[in-house]
Amino acid sequence: MSILIRNARVLTMDDDDTEYPRADILVRGTRIVDLGPDLDLANEAQDLEVIEADNLLAMPGLVNGHFHSPGNFLKGATDDAPLEIFMLYEVPPFSDEPPSPHLNFVRTMLGAVEMLKLGVTAVHDDAFYNPRATSEAIDGLMKAYVDSGMRAVVTIDQPNVVEYEKYPFLRDILPEAIRRRMDETPRQTTEELTELYTGFIERWNGACDGRLGTAVSCSAPQRVTIEYLQALSELSERHSIPYDVHILETRLQRVLGEEKHGKSLVRYVRDAGVLTPRMMVIHAIWVDDEDIEILAASGCTVAHNPVSNQKIGSGIMPFRRLRSAGVPICLGTDEASVDDTANMWGVAKAAGLIHKVTDPEYRNWPTAPELLWCLTRGGARGMGLDGRVGALTPGREADIILVDLDTIAFTPLNDLRRQLVFCENGSSVVMTMVAGRVVARNGRVLTVDEEALKREVRALVPEHRRELAVTAAAAAELHPYYREMYLRAAARNVGLQRWAGPMTP
Ligand SMILES: [Zn+2]
Repeated sequence: MSILIRNARVLTMDDDDTEYPRADILVRGTRIVDLGPDLDLANEAQDLEVIEADNLLAMPGLVNGHFHSPGNFLKGATDDAPLEIFMLYEVPPFSDEPPSPHLNFVRTMLGAVEMLKLGVTAVHDDAFYNPRATSEAIDGLMKAYVDSGMRAVVTIDQPNVVEYEKYPFLRDILPEAIRRRMDETPRQTTEELTELYTGFIERWNGACDGRLGTAVSCSAPQRVTIEYLQALSELSERHSIPYDVHILETRLQRVLGEEKHGKSLVRYVRDAGVLTPRMMVIHAIWVDDEDIEILAASGCTVAHNPVSNQKIGSGIMPFRRLRSAGVPICLGTDEASVDDTANMWGVAKAAGLIHKVTDPEYRNWPTAPELLWCLTRGGARGMGLDGRVGALTPGREADIILVDLDTIAFTPLNDLRRQLVFCENGSSVVMTMVAGRVVARNGRVLTVDEEALKREVRALVPEHRRELAVTAAAAAELHPYYREMYLRAAARNVGLQRWAGPMTP
């Protein structure tokens, strides 16, 4: 069947940033087959479905370039704290039972529904499993992307070193009894994890006519053995899939690199031979000028998560320096516990604002057109889907949203791109299409019974609350030691500043 979107204003986001005041888009199967004013439809089949789009803007669906769906139940759930403290409450070092496949399904679906309604058509999901990943849990998560109709590229984000080795100073700070408990916590070996990945890639890479894909993830270089870090790179190369890695999200991680390796973690991954154009470097906040040059030379993509970075006080990524060096950037929400929404419109606005208070040279500030590029093309690039999604051109996948221009956000309409970044919050999105299928319309997702989903979420709340309470008690025990580590790292001079405030608390 074919679908014609008729008489839309069209922002293509193609290489020439082509915009049509009025044009039609013809979709056949999963792809855009033609686009332009007054298309000749003489040869089209009788069963052509027409979507009238007067006063509507057609543009590529937004891409959430970095996300962790396992955090989807944690919106508003934890006190604000820096990453190293906050992770005690999110991925506790002493948990025993992995979440059930059903819980993985429901919470992944909750995020997918939120995103589809807001016009986010694709997500790069760096999915973690605490304390261990299993095929059943992974498949529960993937089933949500199958059913929701969303495009997703998903990893298995599974650290495999003992907890205190992920941080500087912690081995010395922790009492021996706690260290021993951490030693005894089971960890998955490189062999176990690569076997899990092999099955994961076989089952899911290219599933649903290419709508679903896989990537690999080490979480962060300090959280895995060097052997596993390099094994993942081999998998990434063999299957031509992205490799996700959080690098220098926090100042403490800069200290960690110096303490453990005598160099920054960017230099560490480069020297380990894993920094390639397939790499998705997440955050890149506490990078110095040499790190930026190394990232630019590698051809990697950087994921910028400005709401998350503010929520847990990580710092401000040097956006302009990375862009000027030639590093492609995508935008992401990171996860519900550090953004509290999966709303990419809010992320774009935050990115449009935060860099203005770090640089008095206003010519360096991110512009609305380049933020729209990050939201669409940048995201596609990071997912390994450059050329397939992120723009509206014949041959690309039909991931299209329609935005109502007859809303307060666009009245009066002064500048489309600026108003998309600074006025729109997702409420003007009236249609979301993924791979040629309309999956949301007028604020309702068509692939899922949203009311039933919310009932399922609420039914899981008591179990979830019990887990949170157990986690909080364990975190409270560890908190003083982690705080000491945090303060010790904060007192160290790292030679660069990415906070707007003082170096030390
Ligand atoms: Zn992340």
